[in-house]
Amino acid sequence: MSNNFRAKWDVIIVGGGAAGFFAAIRCAELTPTLRVLILEKSSQTLGKVLISGGGRCNVTHACFEPEKLITYYPRGGNELRGAYTRFQPNDTVAWFEARAVKLKTESDGRMFPVTDSSETVADCLYKAAEDAGVRVEVGASLLGVEKIPKGGFKLEVRSDAQIRFIETKKLLFATGGDRKSLNILHSLGHTIIDPVPSLFTFNIKDGRIHGLAGVAVEDVTLKMDTVITRGPLLITHWGMSGPAVLRCSAWGARILFDKKYASRLTVNWLGDYKLDSTLEILQRNKDWHENARKKVAAHSAFSQIPIRLWKQLAHFIGDKNWADVSKAEIRKLAEELTAGEFKIQGKGQFKEEFVTCGGVNLKEVDFKTMQSRIVDGLYLAGEVLDIDGLTGGFNFQSAWTTGWLAGNALSE
Ligand SMILES: Cc1cc2nc3c(=O)[nH]c(=O)nc-3n(C[C@H](O)[C@H](O)[C@H](O)COP(=O)(O)OP(=O)(O)OC[C@H]3O[C@@H](n4cnc5c(N)ncnc54)[C@H](O)[C@@H]3O)c2cc1C
Repeated sequence: MSNNFRAKWDVIIVGGGAAGFFAAIRCAELTPTLRVLILEKSSQTLGKVLISGGGRCNVTHACFEPEKLITYYPRGGNELRGAYTRFQPNDTVAWFEARAVKLKTESDGRMFPVTDSSETVADCLYKAAEDAGVRVEVGASLLGVEKIPKGGFKLEVRSDAQIRFIETKKLLFATGGDRKSLNILHSLGHTIIDPVPSLFTFNIKDGRIHGLAGVAVEDVTLKMDTVITRGPLLITHWGMSGPAVLRCSAWGARILFDKKYASRLTVNWLGDYKLDSTLEILQRNKDWHENARKKVAAHSAFSQIPIRLWKQLAHFIGDKNWADVSKAEIRKLAEELTAGEFKIQGKGQFKEEFVTCGGVNLKEVDFKTMQSRIVDGLYLAGEVLDIDGLTGGFNFQSAWTTGWLAGNALSE
């Protein structure tokens, strides 16, 4: 197939992911006369869309106010402010609906296709690209880019173990977190913020959570270095997961990388309870005459703490009745509940979603057009930029938005 491809194009998009497809479709729909090509190095395009959201594809998030939406981005929120006034989750919903893909909203705001299948989303993008006349070449890896003095770019591409050169007037990098592609951008003059993982779980080996895989606490506060997050927490076989942990991993992505994923984590199992009020509640439990002969380990004093976890957090009290617990033990328990100290000993994989923090420095991009401020005619969209969001559909949304904006500009 590659040999049949022409050597000159109006627009070449490197990367057949969410951002690349969205840009290609937008651009080709706006100006059908343009010759638009997507180059994808792997054997399949939209690979991440297909595996996303556990095979369901969490397309976007039901948050329709740009000011609120940008607070879900540990990196890139400010730059996305204007972009989200132009294309935001409402527009994503309408875009897919116009192409017969209806989205539904789950109770936590995540939006999925009603079919609960990521194939619906990928098929829609394939069809829209084909209808718009976008050409797609898979197994074609971009190795290098040269700027042509008179305008445009000369691309070195490898496919079928052969190297060839093709030219294009405009070039979009939608290469995700691919390091080699970032190196090419660096060679063109861009500053690259070192890519590191975001959205991961914490490996923690600790007797207090041992054997409790599956136990969830609805509202905890976590503190790791300067990062504070709040939300549900899930104990796993390897340590801790759940929204509070994923948020902590995202906001603390660079700190944790620098610390080689070994850090202290303080857990308030009671959300926002303070030490004093927790002490008071525990003291009341102790003073209550009906409790005097009851074992501390028998009932959790806080309904939000499941009994199995309570027993392990209060393990040092042993078999004692409430009446026999000392003041020091009450204080220690209150401290354990509101500021339990754990050690993060590594990172685990969150299978539903994963992104890299880092990429092209956002100062070097015009967010109205997604054009590079360093190289004329070069555009950037999606995860190749130093943008990453929390889990929940925010990462695809930034890919749709920046892809759409780039598509507008590429079509001119
Ligand atoms: C398992 C998993 C599940 C996820 N689930 C969700 C979810 O449900 N919701 C959500 O919002 N986000 C999710 N994400 C994140 C989301 O997939 C990414 O944010 C999004 O795919 C980024 O889109 P992109 O087009 O910028 O990059 P990518 O999807 O990474 O696409 C980049 C493409 O460029 C190609 N490429 C790179 N370099 C070259 C080169 N030199 N030559 C040719 N081709 C090249 C790559 O092969 C790749 O196909 C998930 C991520 C993972 C890993």
